[in-house]
Amino acid sequence: MGRAFAYVILGGGVAAGYAALELVRHGDGVSPGELCIISDEAVAPYERPALSKGYLLPRGAARLPAFHTCVGANDELLTEQWYKDHGIELVLGTRVVSADVRRKTLLTATGETISYKTLIVATGARALELEEFGVTRSDATNVCYLRSLEDADKMVGVMRSCHGGNAVVIGGGYIGMECAAALVANEIKVAMVFPRKHCMDRLFTPKIAEFYENYYAAKGVTFIKEARVTSFETSSDGKVTGAILRDGRRLPADMVVVGIGARANTELFDGQLAMEKGGIKVNGRMQTSDAAVYAVGDVAAFPVALLSGDMRRFEHVDCARRTARRAVAAIMERSDGAEERGEMGFDYLPFFYSRVFALSWQFYGDNVGEPVHFGDFSAPAGGRPKFGACWVSGGLVAGVFLEGGSREENEAVASAVRCRARIGDVAAELESRGLAFADQESRRKLTRRCYGLAAGGDKPTYAWHATVGVAAAVSIAAFVYWYGWQAPYVVKREF
Ligand SMILES: Cc1cc2nc3c(=O)[nH]c(=O)nc-3n(C[C@H](O)[C@H](O)[C@H](O)COP(=O)(O)OP(=O)(O)OC[C@H]3O[C@@H](n4cnc5c(N)ncnc54)[C@H](O)[C@@H]3O)c2cc1C
Repeated sequence: MGRAFAYVILGGGVAAGYAALELVRHGDGVSPGELCIISDEAVAPYERPALSKGYLLPRGAARLPAFHTCVGANDELLTEQWYKDHGIELVLGTRVVSADVRRKTLLTATGETISYKTLIVATGARALELEEFGVTRSDATNVCYLRSLEDADKMVGVMRSCHGGNAVVIGGGYIGMECAAALVANEIKVAMVFPRKHCMDRLFTPKIAEFYENYYAAKGVTFIKEARVTSFETSSDGKVTGAILRDGRRLPADMVVVGIGARANTELFDGQLAMEKGGIKVNGRMQTSDAAVYAVGDVAAFPVALLSGDMRRFEHVDCARRTARRAVAAIMERSDGAEERGEMGFDYLPFFYSRVFALSWQFYGDNVGEPVHFGDFSAPAGGRPKFGACWVSGGLVAGVFLEGGSREENEAVASAVRCRARIGDVAAELESRGLAFADQESRRKLTRRCYGLAAGGDKPTYAWHATVGVAAAVSIAAFVYWYGWQAPYVVKREF
């Protein structure tokens, strides 16, 4: 026996919250009793990025209900009461253990069968564990992961008991970098260990990474690169006291934070739905290979119209919000055109961001092609650094990274990427704002790319003055207007 709903959202994270709000708002909305959300977390959907930022602050830390969805997009705060008021069944602390797509049912760990007419899969991703790499003791009381509120509470407790002590952070990606900053704020000494040549190597160029590594080093963080933790030393009460590296070095540890990547939670649908890029394959409407099932957020791999329909899966909050809204729009507005069949891909501009210490960066687009650096990479004493990189592919801007940009500047670069601006226009615009090329190498690359010079040559093959003349005439605000596109790509409020 069980309950039946018109709509079920499986998972109670970021995408679930945004999908619920959109279902309530879209057209006539959902009627009381039509929508159910099932989550194995104990609380209503919240803005997960808060866990590695405001939640870990030693003073004035963010706490629920302040960061339930959808405040991260400056929208309504959906507390448990909001779900009650809208007649939405919030089934919390309940894990779904199997799904039957043919029968349209889900089985929970409590033995209940919940059936749906339309299912939105929003199961997100989970943190990879050290055990997958042959290192045991992830379960030690002072080894922390960071994916859920429960994880964050554990980390806060462990940090409090380690004041003035040593932390080993394993991993040099988003979680590692943000947690290292939080540990420093909590006055804990940090050693970061990762196997790559520099931090954030999937996005940062060596030059960008060098800036952040120097900044972190000035805060006391030690980087141990091209290294791996192979085992832990433990005390008689089961706590980790040291991390042993492959080369035999020992790092003292009062606590360990592990941020070595994530894996999408797809297993419930293995053999039932088509998969791609480690996630559930959907079309541009977020519809899976089963017409009654949609997938959104970290778990969904979708065709990105801006990238010529290339299938991508993103583990970023902006994507979770936008794919959730896209799925609901598609569910509520069924029709037959090519767009509605999802053949065009989803019109999405990839957008990632992070905030650490007093720094804040945003990235838009795709980091393919050649990076051209601009701005001043030396952190001015007391001032805010401002620099970045444009990735240039075929003379067009494929992606832009910007540290320290204002809202208008971030919007302008987002616009330039979205419109596949010519690099010459963007370069002139940046130069007119004092963000000149960062180095000779970038100048050389840019000259070669956008003004048609052969490497080392000196004769432009088309008019440099015309290009620069047009672009220099416009301000960065007008730049947005010039490309005729405005979208709220800049996140206004984050925790
Ligand atoms: C600490 C942290 C910091 C981050 N910071 C940033 C950032 O600064 N910028 C950025 O762009 N992105 C950031 N992200 C990534 C961003 O939070 C994710 O992309 C986003 O949460 C994805 O939303 P989602 O709804 O797809 O998945 P999630 O938010 O992970 O939600 C998935 C939900 O499904 C539940 N679930 C899974 N399986 C089951 C099951 N079988 N039964 C019941 N429930 C289930 C989970 O418990 C969870 O509630 C961060 C992520 C973390 C962990």
